[in-house]
Amino acid sequence: MIKNYMEYLVEDFLSTIWDNNKLNMCTCEKCKDDVMSLALNNLKPHYVSSSEGELFTKVESLKQQTITDVVSSVTNAIEIVKKNQRHNC
Ligand SMILES: [Zn+2]
Repeated sequence: MIKNYMEYLVEDFLSTIWDNNKLNMCTCEKCKDDVMSLALNNLKPHYVSSSEGELFTKVESLKQQTITDVVSSVTNAIEIVKKNQRHNC
């Protein structure tokens, strides 16, 4: 089973900020998917083949730089989606 574990990081970080009114943007699933795909396109994929349990152990030991990259990529993606909302909510 091959996974890009940047997906887990982005999704995990996004879930901590998504239901926060401070984002001041539409928080529907469409906009969330837009943010996720934009953020992931800006991050170098990191593919791993392992079971989910192992995956999360690896995520725990990720370098701080990777976390910083995820946070800044998601933050940029949010700004882009906010300005280019593709639908009427
Ligand atoms: Zn939306």
